[in-house]
Amino acid sequence: MRKKGANPDYRAIITGKRWTTLRGMKMLMNAIDNGGFCERCVKLYRAGGPRPREATEVHHIVPIESGHTRQEMEALAYDENNLMALCSQCHHELHKELGRVHIKEALREEIDEYLKSIRNGRQERTAPEQPGESFEGHGPS
Ligand SMILES: [Zn+2]
Ligand SMILES: [Zn+2]
Repeated sequence: MRKKGANPDYRAIITGKRWTTLRGMKMLMNAIDNGGFCERCVKLYRAGGPRPREATEVHHIVPIESGHTRQEMEALAYDENNLMALCSQCHHELHKELGRVHIKEALREEIDEYLKSIRNGRQERTAPEQPGESFEGHGPS
């Protein structure tokens, strides 16, 4: 197993313009859909929890590092459906949970399914009509 944070692909993705742009878009979408509140807080609030906090961070539900190749890691990183807008407390909590071995085991199957669906769905993801091309080279600056 590779050491976390030592993976150069992970670092390249998370510091890249494409991620930064997507992250901003997710925060914007969350402001529209969710009033800018943390998605986990809102769920807890609906179940009788305390008032939700503001979302300040974007989390990947299936961790980027679960990809076996750079392509898989990018697919995980840039999939809107794999993102959650969170407050820093909930983000911390979620990662604490993810760090527990039994949850990792439970997630493993889900992760493998997810990666399979990425491989199968690749064709339509890279359709030439997608306006995503301009994302790669020159973003808004
Ligand atoms: Zn929260
Ligand atoms: Zn996270």
